[in-house]
Amino acid sequence: MEPQQRSPLLEVKGNIELKRALAKAPSRLPLPGSRLKRGPDQMEEDLEPEKKRTRGLGTKVATSRPRATALTTVPQTQGQTAVPKVPRKTGPRCSAAIATVLKNQKPGPAVPAQKPGTTAAPPVVGRKKPSKRPAWDLKGQLCDLNAELKCCRERTQMLDQENQQLRNQLREAQQQATALGTERRTLEEELARMRAQAEQGQQELGNLSTRVLELEERLGTQEGLVQELQKEQLELQEERRGLAAQLEEQERRLQASEAALSGSQAELASLRQEAAAQADLLFKREERLHGLEMERRRLHNQLQELKGNVRVFCRVRPVLPGESTPPPGFLLFPSGPSGPSDPPTRLSLSRSDERRGTLSGAPAAPTRHDFSFDRVFPPGSGQDEVFEEISMLVQSALDGYPVCIFAYGQTGSGKTFTMEGGPGGDPQVEGLIPRALRHLFSVAQELSGQGWTYSFVASYVEIYNETVRDLLATGTRKGHGGECEIRRAGPGSEELTVTNARYVPVSCEREVEALLHLARQNRAVARTAQNERSSRSHSVFQLQISGEHAGRGLQCAAPLSLVDLAGSERLDPGLALGPGERERLRETQAINSSLSTLGLVIMALSNKESHVPYRNSKLTYLLQNSLGGSAKMLMFVNISPLEENVSESLNSLRFASKVNQCVIGTAQANRK
Ligand code: ADP
Ligand code: MG
Repeated sequence: MEPQQRSPLLEVKGNIELKRALAKAPSRLPLPGSRLKRGPDQMEEDLEPEKKRTRGLGTKVATSRPRATALTTVPQTQGQTAVPKVPRKTGPRCSAAIATVLKNQKPGPAVPAQKPGTTAAPPVVGRKKPSKRPAWDLKGQLCDLNAELKCCRERTQMLDQENQQLRNQLREAQQQATALGTERRTLEEELARMRAQAEQGQQELGNLSTRVLELEERLGTQEGLVQELQKEQLELQEERRGLAAQLEEQERRLQASEAALSGSQAELASLRQEAAAQADLLFKREERLHGLEMERRRLHNQLQELKGNVRVFCRVRPVLPGESTPPPGFLLFPSGPSGPSDPPTRLSLSRSDERRGTLSGAPAAPTRHDFSFDRVFPPGSGQDEVFEEISMLVQSALDGYPVCIFAYGQTGSGKTFTMEGGPGGDPQVEGLIPRALRHLFSVAQELSGQGWTYSFVASYVEIYNETVRDLLATGTRKGHGGECEIRRAGPGSEELTVTNARYVPVSCEREVEALLHLARQNRAVARTAQNERSSRSHSVFQLQISGEHAGRGLQCAAPLSLVDLAGSERLDPGLALGPGERERLRETQAINSSLSTLGLVIMALSNKESHVPYRNSKLTYLLQNSLGGSAKMLMFVNISPLEENVSESLNSLRFASKVNQCVIGTAQANRK
């Protein structure tokens, strides 16, 4: 700050200092002479209120002028004659002093002049009176007093002026102080504002510092991120280069592929043309094939009919271990007209009748019984050989002709062996049922190529004592099974169904094997209830075959029935009839009745009788759809090779011969 522009506050301070110095200086106003017997100190006391006023101001108001000299003394040059003037404002005490002097002068008593230093009033200290007037010199004294009064008046005047000045100064100072106070307040306000601003600034600074720290931190993070991104960018660039190379490679390949594709498309077009030509050819071939298939079916049927709709095959089982070998010539299989190469169709059985003795006592020559059938299988014939002969009939079943195959013969002659197979699950000894089904599945598969779809549903029941029982029963019905009834599938329907029996769809050999296994188990359970029941009952395995040619709207359906008949042996009439035998007799009668009914049905069909007694037995009733009309029937007559069974064998062969003589109608396929 410039010296000229000193702060008003500092200026005031300087003035106050000066004032303080002024106030401290003692006033040395000239006092009246010693005759007043008052010292300067007393005068000082008289002047006290004035001084005090001045001092009081001195503390408050600064004056720029030093006033000490003006207040100290009256100049010495005024001499003794010069009566110091009493200041006007000395107050009543000064006036009283003057009055006292005047009063003392009036009476005029001679008052001896007091010697200096002997008066009662103390001498004025520091004041040198020019001379002492004698007491009588009242005039002189009056002059002195007048001089002094004048001096006082001047002095008073001067003090008034000074007072006025001081008042002015005081006013100025007060104004100045007011201004300064205002200024001070302004400044204080400004200071407060500045402080507030400073505080705010400080706070802002703090905030900014925090923000700076944060930003620095973020900057650090961002820098790290930037580095990572740069690294990533480098990697991506690398990857991009790799991908670009791959893309180039792919584009090259694509071009090559496109070239190949256009070549292929041309090739495809020519192939399509070729395919169309092939399809046309194929269609024609299919048509031709279908025509041929139909022709085959017709010719096949004709052949079967030529062979006979009722055919009888005779099968002689081998002698089993432990059995007595029959005498030579007991059973003979004469060759056919073309020699041994021809399949045997004839059988000769020799029977020596012990009752017919000769007169000489020598045994009579055995009687020879010759039989002729469609085919005769000697004991050595295998299952495959037997099946080959009947496979044509299985084909007929697929073509829509009902087929029924019986096994007839006494117990132990090999009926079950022929139908189901030998024990142990040996494929070599598999019976007709598994073989026929395998053949059906494979032919159906072949025919599917020509648009035929086949489905097969199997059932297996046994008829014992004219009751039907399900051999495929499972769960709680297993082995015991509730009684089944043979009913028509629906009102007016020709189709027959067995109530409570399971009809199981089959499509492969394994399923058929499982069913045969289940049937064996069911028979085994039944056997515990009654011994050898299986040989006293008819087992009927039926397969409902349904074929459809969706493309031509053709359908065919026919049952294939494979029947293991009950033992045909008769009860020896010579046997005593115990309770067991009576039961056995009832069984036998039931069996014989059903078997003779079968024979009668075949006869009636053969003779084209109006009434066919199907309903006379459960067996014929169940099989009626597989016997008449277009049906093809094959009967195996199973023969024991043993001499001891010769009687039963003859019975069987006779029954079979009768059947063999039958010719049942001209078969018609069940076409819909
Ligand atoms: P059926 O059922 O007529 O009562 P089986 O089929 O049970 O008679 O046959 C009786 C026995 O003879 C069985 O042990 C069987 O294995 C056996 N058998 C039957 N036929 C033949 C055959 N062709 N070859 C070998 N063994 C046979
Ligand atoms: Mg049997």
